[in-house]
Amino acid sequence: MERIVLNPVKISYNIDKMEVFKGFKTDSKTFDLIVEIIENTGEIIRPRAILKWCNVEKVEQGCITLMGQAFTSKLLFDKLCHLEKVFLSIVTAGDELDVLIGKYPASIVDIIKYAILIETRNEIKKYISDNFGYNDIAELCPGSLPDWPVENNYFLFEMINNACEIGVILKNDYFMKPLNTVSSILYNGDKDYVNCSLCKKKCIKRRCKFNKNEYKRIFD
Ligand code: SF4
Repeated sequence: MERIVLNPVKISYNIDKMEVFKGFKTDSKTFDLIVEIIENTGEIIRPRAILKWCNVEKVEQGCITLMGQAFTSKLLFDKLCHLEKVFLSIVTAGDELDVLIGKYPASIVDIIKYAILIETRNEIKKYISDNFGYNDIAELCPGSLPDWPVENNYFLFEMINNACEIGVILKNDYFMKPLNTVSSILYNGDKDYVNCSLCKKKCIKRRCKFNKNEYKRIFD
């Protein structure tokens, strides 16, 4: 199975080009601090990722098997049942900016790290498109929906193997360290799918509206 380590991932680290800051209020002290940090930390940030290309080995109603590991999930079945290959991935913004906490508010450092993570996720999708011909890549993240809980990170980490290589640790509660790290299955041909569309949580990071019809189609 092909395993790819990208360390660092080269991203666009410019506030004018970063997705999270589009539409951000520019006449604020917060914005000025974000600009100041971004302008002075291009040399120290180190976003990184591991990818593993693997076969969809078996498809049964409500269950998908990848690399010998069966995942019971209506969501995975719905999204992956017609595919032959997917990518497992771990992507992190890294923790290099944490040295700034104290000099700058932690909340501002965190939003920049979140923005780095979003850029890195986009860059990884572009890398897969350029090198493997995938289009319209979507991602399925353990823990984003009750149907595929965060405990599945245990299996993803076993399958990806040695996430320490990019400085990521899986904690006892199956969440990852550092913060602003995401694990997922990346797959082809579902550009419009976003986990938030099937998630009922109230959440400030929501990226799209809850889609009741789609939720009923997949889970009822
Ligand atoms: S709404 Fe929030 S918790 Fe739910 S999938 Fe989206 S980002 Fe995650």
